[in-house]
Amino acid sequence: MPKNKKQFAVIGLGRFGGSICRELYHLGYEVLAIDQDEEKVDEYVTFATQTACIDSTDEKALKSLGLGNFDHVVVAIGDHIQASVLTTLVLKDMNVPIVWAKAQNKYHQKVLDKIGADRVVHPEFDMGIRVAHNMTSEKVIDFIDLSNDYTIVEVYATKKLHRKTLIDSNIRATYGVTILAIKRNEDVNVSPRPNDTIEQGDMLIVLGHKDEIRRFENEGL
Ligand code: ADP
Repeated sequence: MPKNKKQFAVIGLGRFGGSICRELYHLGYEVLAIDQDEEKVDEYVTFATQTACIDSTDEKALKSLGLGNFDHVVVAIGDHIQASVLTTLVLKDMNVPIVWAKAQNKYHQKVLDKIGADRVVHPEFDMGIRVAHNMTSEKVIDFIDLSNDYTIVEVYATKKLHRKTLIDSNIRATYGVTILAIKRNEDVNVSPRPNDTIEQGDMLIVLGHKDEIRRFENEGL
């Protein structure tokens, strides 16, 4: 059970909300699962700490559930844009610290941003970008974009880097990228030192400008 026991609520138990709810519950967090569809709610009795069948645009009903005391509330209502916007507004009025909201399209995304949703996700769109990156770069396992220019990627060290120290590999001088960590099986070497050695198959967590990272992938691995 996580030590810092945050409280989560998920509104809308479709594919997106349902999967968040199950995973949070699986991770040991307290999750309140909400949907207006009774069948959906029944389905989640074993995948949530508590369930409630309400229409989330009903302000009184939301208040009676004490949602103002939750740390994170996810609004995972997809198709009903009006319901998603209204629910998000009410939650922010209730001072929920962090409201995540799922957007159906870029206009929906803009509205959610404007009315104060703290995090807006557009799962199909975001996943499309990830898939395109993974398809075009066979060496990158995962990545986080820090800005339009800078990114952190996970790559496997190849034979080229086997048994080389960070100094020998000359990665920073050649490509201008920084190895933030080296992961070998379950061991993670965070902020590795110049004399630490890389082995083939190590996972390298690398930070740098996108152009430099691509050059490192193409020439350094
Ligand atoms: P996904 O694309 O992630 O599967 P859906 O749009 O299919 O998402 O599912 C959204 C869920 O939100 C449905 O289960 C629906 O019953 C629920 N929902 C929609 N409007 C409301 C509302 N006003 N209050 C509570 N739940 C709602």
